Amino acid sequence: METNIVKAYGTEAANKPLHGMNIKRRELLPHDIEMEVLYCGICHSDLHQIKNEFGGATFPFVPGHEIVGKVTRVGTHVKKFKTGDLAGVGCIVDSCGKCESCKDDLEQFCDEGVTFSFNSADKHLGGVTYGGFSETYVCNENYVLHVPDSLDLASAAPLLCAGITVYSPLKHWQAGSGKMVGILGIGGLGHVAIKMAKAMGAHVVVFTTSASKVEDAKRLGADEAILSTDAEQMKKYTRKMHLILDTVSAKHDVNTYLNLLKHDGSVVLVGLPPEPLEIGAFSVVSGRHSFSGSNIGGIAETQEMLDFYAKHNITADIELINVQQVNEAFNRLQKGDVKYRFVIDMASLKK
Ligand SMILES: [Zn+2]
Ligand SMILES: [Zn+2]
Repeated sequence: METNIVKAYGTEAANKPLHGMNIKRRELLPHDIEMEVLYCGICHSDLHQIKNEFGGATFPFVPGHEIVGKVTRVGTHVKKFKTGDLAGVGCIVDSCGKCESCKDDLEQFCDEGVTFSFNSADKHLGGVTYGGFSETYVCNENYVLHVPDSLDLASAAPLLCAGITVYSPLKHWQAGSGKMVGILGIGGLGHVAIKMAKAMGAHVVVFTTSASKVEDAKRLGADEAILSTDAEQMKKYTRKMHLILDTVSAKHDVNTYLNLLKHDGSVVLVGLPPEPLEIGAFSVVSGRHSFSGSNIGGIAETQEMLDFYAKHNITADIELINVQQVNEAFNRLQKGDVKYRFVIDMASLKK
């Protein structure tokens, strides 16, 4: 198959610094678009993969699945995009299209295994897919999103993963007017979730372990923000919450939060702690509580999310960096030292 060599930023082994490298992108198939990558967000999943925390990372590895750019070329049969259109690619770049999950617009749960934008088996070139820390991305038009031009492009990039990751469960578990919605953790996911749940009309309570983030949670739109280490304050929320979105990606005690739920309430995990979490029986049997999870969202829902965010003018709070600063950014992300998402200005790759 014909390929093109493009510049990218990646790493050859776990825990090794990222650096400039050349990768191959396939020449366009009839339904492919090629986009110039303008901005790419840095997600906690990129960090997990670089450190190979879940196993299964293949190297060389090129991260990036919060990709915003401009269409530079389209395949002969492409109907949904034309050259010059703004475009986005998130976590999903292919799926079988035939299974029940795909037919229900839940491509993320495809029976045959979804193809992710990085570190998935590449059906066309062999090897694995390479992410958006690169000059271009090539993708089937059915997995490419229209990015509304009213959104600031750099701060819209994190919506492609962080945005949909919180939008999908907030919608599924019916966050909205009259609902008490808790957000656990204020990071890349949590800070977008606050804005999102507010836009949906919910009363938003943020639970954080960091005193410095209490005021920031309110600035981001939270109605209340509580230090989760303050037992007295926490007690006030017992049996008050309809839904708590848990964005924490480290080991933590979820029983504390299950005990804040009203009857039939849910704690929904969207963070990815590498170790199993323990759940006490009484945390779920009393009050018929649920502990659930959610993983990104399907393509149609991702488009719906982008349009919703554009309508409410919601984007992520970002720190824009050059690609040459990416190793420092990963070190800071590891320590939780970012407000609240790093986004790479990919024009810097040309330097
Ligand atoms: Zn992500
Ligand atoms: Zn499928």
